[in-house]
Amino acid sequence: MEKPVSVWDAHTHLFPPAAGADPRGWGADRGEEHWTALAAPERRRSLQDFPDSGRMAEDMDRAGVSTAILLGWYWERAETCREHNRFLCEIAAQDPSRFIPFAALQLRDNPRALDDLDEAVRNGCRGVGELLPGVQGYSLDDMLFAELCGYAAERHLPIVLHVTEGAGRRHAGRVDTPFMELVELAASNPDTIFIFAHWGGGLPFYALNPHVRASLANVYFDSAASPLMYDSRVWGVVRDLVGPERLLFGSDYPLRIYPKRQKQADFTGIVEEFRESGLTDVDLRMMGGGNLRRILEHTTEGSGAVD
Ligand SMILES: [Zn+2]
Repeated sequence: MEKPVSVWDAHTHLFPPAAGADPRGWGADRGEEHWTALAAPERRRSLQDFPDSGRMAEDMDRAGVSTAILLGWYWERAETCREHNRFLCEIAAQDPSRFIPFAALQLRDNPRALDDLDEAVRNGCRGVGELLPGVQGYSLDDMLFAELCGYAAERHLPIVLHVTEGAGRRHAGRVDTPFMELVELAASNPDTIFIFAHWGGGLPFYALNPHVRASLANVYFDSAASPLMYDSRVWGVVRDLVGPERLLFGSDYPLRIYPKRQKQADFTGIVEEFRESGLTDVDLRMMGGGNLRRILEHTTEGSGAVD
């Protein structure tokens, strides 16, 4: 089978060097309890790795990943979102063909949330996320979220939502998976593009229901962190459930998603798994970048302009 030339990764993270140097202190200083519990757990080694952008670029080159979406995090404080966005935009501006930033955003207790987003978009952000309302303290049916969906639809900015797997191991990041709310969110905002991360937490199964399938017409699913949760049959199964045109390759780098064999995060394991998953060449090209490029085609880099 011919291998695709390169892969676009729809789901990566990069943190400021100070966060990597002392995650517990950095998180505590900012009141980011949830992130700190994940990134610097008390009694076990963290799955989170903290490369700088130079090492990330090398890791991408080694695995044949040409372009990566640098997602923001679902910070609890609006100020941390602003700080992270400034950092991501700076990194992306230095190497815009490699890195595309998406904006972190806190809606709760933040009347200037859409101004924050405006600023991030002016600085180069081309999407919103990763958001996790259950941790950030608001819900998908909040008025502000509806406003965000309208804003994003006008500017063709995709919204990335972290979706926890509906059933699985107990872990520190676990929050409830609001399947019905996600379906209703997509249905009531048909002009907004949503990316439900981590295979939508299992939501693709329900796309076998024609009513649900119709509601998810504007939803994509990414494969971020897949090996932490599922065996490699998942690629073909989800492709069969929702079609290759709905799928985006995502790694969740720099998370160590093969913790037993990875000392450091890298892209090679999951890229290999993806390429050897039994997907057709056409599937691989769509999921490995074609779908993502089509989503981003409509967003004008750095302009923030409404067309
Ligand atoms: Zn996530």
